[in-house]
Amino acid sequence: MNASPVDAAAQAVVSHMPDTLARLADYLTYPAISCQTEHHADVRRLAERIRDDLEALGLDRARVLDVTPADGGVAMPTVAAEWLRAGPDKPVVLIYGHLDLQPVGEPEWRTSPHEATTVGDRLFARGAADDMGGWLSHLAALKAWLDTSGTLPCNLKLVIEGEEEIGSPYLQQFMDEHPDAFDADVMVLTDCENPSTDVPGLTVSLRGLLEVELTCEVAEADGHSGLWGNMVPDPAIALIKLIDRLTDDDGRLAIGRVDVDAARQASARQVPLSEATIREGAHLLDGVDPLPLRGRTAAEWLWWQPAVTVVATTLPTRAQKKNAIRRSAAATLSVRLAPGQTSAGMFALLKAELERDPPGGVKVSVTTDEGWGGAWLYTPKGPAFAAADRAYVAGWGRPLVQVGIGGSIPFVSMFGERFSDLPLILNGVLDPLSTAHGPNESLHLGVFEKMLVTNVHLYAELGALAPASLKSA
Ligand SMILES: [Zn+2]
Repeated sequence: MNASPVDAAAQAVVSHMPDTLARLADYLTYPAISCQTEHHADVRRLAERIRDDLEALGLDRARVLDVTPADGGVAMPTVAAEWLRAGPDKPVVLIYGHLDLQPVGEPEWRTSPHEATTVGDRLFARGAADDMGGWLSHLAALKAWLDTSGTLPCNLKLVIEGEEEIGSPYLQQFMDEHPDAFDADVMVLTDCENPSTDVPGLTVSLRGLLEVELTCEVAEADGHSGLWGNMVPDPAIALIKLIDRLTDDDGRLAIGRVDVDAARQASARQVPLSEATIREGAHLLDGVDPLPLRGRTAAEWLWWQPAVTVVATTLPTRAQKKNAIRRSAAATLSVRLAPGQTSAGMFALLKAELERDPPGGVKVSVTTDEGWGGAWLYTPKGPAFAAADRAYVAGWGRPLVQVGIGGSIPFVSMFGERFSDLPLILNGVLDPLSTAHGPNESLHLGVFEKMLVTNVHLYAELGALAPASLKSA
């Protein structure tokens, strides 16, 4: 008996996995690091290479898109291609990924960062999971369909961005100037994380980001600490007391906590975020434990509550040591906003708390710049998500679990705002041990294989839906 078309494609994508990994290894040799101008030529070389490969795969209109920024900046290229031969009664599925990489500067790499190296069940290289493995899992799946059936069960568009790792500065302009490249009925944005190698994640929230500058001023000049100690306030101590005021006894931000509804609490409890995973993922020292949960889940603390980190200070360094009370002290506080929280609202709360009752009567100022990353909260609904769950059951043996991301990803907010009426499926090949952006980035090969099979099914499941049924009212 002949296998059904979807099963034939699923078998092909698995049996061709060695070729897919060879192609991945080849792409990973390109040091396409978008934040380093000396590598901008590599970003373009890789973009052109991918365009040629997409054409060879049988996609139509494979092209490298460019824009000319009005601000005099340099925009990295975006690769686009499409296959729209399934006809107008089938939905257009847009696949998004990015080809650019984070830098590899850290000395802790155990393997060569631009040479794919398999150790155990993981493939190590910069970009292996973030995000080459992500979009390549789609190329392999559509190739399997074309090889086995000569057709795809839905219409497809691919957009592979060249500047995600620098915050997608010109993605809006690409969307404005090349709208047909983005026009679709459902979007699969493959650059996110799974909560474990056995549990697939659907990302539905991001925290926002607000940077606050806190300054304590005391005098016009530094003063002798022996002559004036006990009579003149030390701005360094005042600064530390003010930061302490924002936090609870564990050191977590205590200002601006939000209520998390029962549905999100329930989904958080499905997420296997163990102490061991946190310990390993965050590289904690022996003897240092993750902060206590205090009756909440790790998922809630990581994704759905605001957090503060001191990211810079002007406190005296060892090299500047002298017996003086300094004239001033300042700190930059990086504040992660809960999904749904506005930067203006959080800034007002922090400012009020920091400016009341200054410790030692120091002069306190609290400022921020506009335009930090917005938080994002999404409610997946409609048939596309049920279709995605069926594809994940076929590929992973279980449906998607809703997860958040503690960080802020500009491209997600941009897609979220611009295409808010479309189903946005945020998935990916990352897992908690992938260490994207850090040394020894890796792709779990079991996750990759499951995503290959899932994508094969995802096209069939989405292709079975009427385009008009996908847009939400
Ligand atoms: Zn990424």
